[in-house]
Amino acid sequence: MKLLVVDDSSTMRRIIKNTLARLGYKDILEGADGLEGWVALDANPDVDMLITDWNMPEMNGLELVVKVRADERFKDLPIIMVTTEGGKTEVITALKAGVNNYIVKPFTPQVLKEKLAAVMGIEV
Ligand SMILES: [Mg+2]
Repeated sequence: MKLLVVDDSSTMRRIIKNTLARLGYKDILEGADGLEGWVALDANPDVDMLITDWNMPEMNGLELVVKVRADERFKDLPIIMVTTEGGKTEVITALKAGVNNYIVKPFTPQVLKEKLAAVMGIEV
């Protein structure tokens, strides 16, 4: 399984990557903003899941989600948003844009694991 992690914080990308690695997922692509994320996804349409931050320069995570969902190749791509924007309005906005699940920072590895499993429809 190939995952794409998009966050403008290299520390956060590392935390997510380490958590995923512990769950056995080691094929991970990265992007430092929405635009980089889009370029990576466009070049690797075999990515199985997108994990993205919301607040980022160039193209934010919400814009990225809208762009991804507008592309026929990615209409069913599982997307998890990991963000500090934990308000009800933000969550609803993200879900309406096509996010499958939502994680509010700071989060524990257990939470990431559970949300990942929920989105993939698997037991972890
Ligand atoms: Mg950010």
